[in-house]
Amino acid sequence: MAIIIDGKKIASNIKEELKDKVDNILSKGGARPKLALLLVGEDPASKIYVRNKERFCNDTGVESLVLRKDASTTEEEVLKIIDGWNNDPTVNGILVQLPLPKHIDETKVLLSIDPAKDVDGFHPANVGRLVAGMPSYVPCTPLGIYELLKRYDIDLKGKHCVVVGRSNIVGKPIANLLVQKEKNANAIVTVCHSASPDISYYTKQADILIAAVGVPELIKGKDVKEGVVVIDVGINRVADDSKEKGYRIAGDVDYDEVEKKASAITPVPGGVGPMTIAMLLLNTIRSAQKEVYK
Ligand code: NDP
Repeated sequence: MAIIIDGKKIASNIKEELKDKVDNILSKGGARPKLALLLVGEDPASKIYVRNKERFCNDTGVESLVLRKDASTTEEEVLKIIDGWNNDPTVNGILVQLPLPKHIDETKVLLSIDPAKDVDGFHPANVGRLVAGMPSYVPCTPLGIYELLKRYDIDLKGKHCVVVGRSNIVGKPIANLLVQKEKNANAIVTVCHSASPDISYYTKQADILIAAVGVPELIKGKDVKEGVVVIDVGINRVADDSKEKGYRIAGDVDYDEVEKKASAITPVPGGVGPMTIAMLLLNTIRSAQKEVYK
């Protein structure tokens, strides 16, 4: 029987730890950490994500400053808002909810965020720091995966980690994290993507398999070896008439098949998903404590 890696429980433990950290900062006379969030437009999923982030802030005692702007907001206005937050010493973290409306250049906006407040870890300055093995803000989903592996005592040293997916948000940063010469990393990393002719050839060799593809149940039982540790990042909607909503949420891994061979596995939902917001708040508190940029 595989160990179920319970991201929901770990995220809830982290929430308590972060609350203690905030209380500790305040008890020493420090300022309450503050996260500024910008939402532009009416994307329903983005609205939910921002509301969840706001709620997590409240639960941990981090102040949230949420600005909701309509879809007609110009790029210039967005850049002005960010400039204001960059120069506001009370703001420790800045998050721009993606996607932005098409008329706004996302790259330009992300580049305008002060790297010292880039708690999403998307700015090339932080990406470069991560690759170079320097202190950095690491994107929240990969950081959540790293934390799960650490808290479940999964030894990565010399192990073969196969990452399927090379996005800037998940695949590339987790590969870069796991290959670092660090106590909780030191893995041998292979990255597969859409140009890999036969991903099964690689996934079958994985001691640790990380799937961040966005294709429901792509990885089957035949694609993994006995004892593999599986981290399934995928969150996919699959039509299902038996459900009230008409769909179910599936990962990138066929859970029923793969769980039988795995030594440990994350469920979807309840695995990686809940860790992402917890890591956003961790990064914000690290920024308030000047842990990355002194
Ligand atoms: P992207 O679409 O940005 O990247 C997907 C990657 O998978 C790309 O590198 C792509 O290759 C590769 N790929 C696509 N199809 C195949 C295939 N058939 N075989 C091999 N590789 C393939 O997705 P994200 O990284 O943003 O997200 C991946 C999944 O994780 C999604 O389901 C998403 O919803 C979920 N997610 C969950 C989060 C959470 O839990 N909080 C956070 C972020 C994402 P190529 O580069 O060549 O196009």
